[in-house]
Amino acid sequence: MKVCSECNAVFDGRKWRSTPETDRHGVAVLEKTLCTACKRMRDKVVLGTVHLDGEVIASRSGEILRMIRHEEEIERARNHTSRILDIHSSGQKMTIRTVNSLLAIHIAKQFKQAFKGRIDIFKDSPGHRPRSKQDEGTISVKWMQNPQKQD
Ligand SMILES: [Zn+2]
Repeated sequence: MKVCSECNAVFDGRKWRSTPETDRHGVAVLEKTLCTACKRMRDKVVLGTVHLDGEVIASRSGEILRMIRHEEEIERARNHTSRILDIHSSGQKMTIRTVNSLLAIHIAKQFKQAFKGRIDIFKDSPGHRPRSKQDEGTISVKWMQNPQKQD
């Protein structure tokens, strides 16, 4: 079995999975490599972008960041590649880049659920070319707390 040297995920021949604790007897036969998620993190392969815009971003930033990391944790347990590459914020705007497209949608939906507002989902940013049949494509999601206040 292969094991990712970054995050200890294991490859069972079909799919990368997060492991809870590595079995003591398993370690010796494991081959160290990098899993899909860690490769994407290293190469900064951005498949999802979330743009958040709302006063809660500025007024409750600590809580907001915990909420985003919590969502990442939940999604990561379901799909190993659900990871956040980076988070940037300025005033009441925040941008989250993910290496998995579905994670971006899940994060935006969390905001709609918690603070209402509106989300818009845009698939495949211009210039995106599918690399393979398994290519999940890129997603960008925008959440606005007060859409009517815009413009
Ligand atoms: Zn890994």
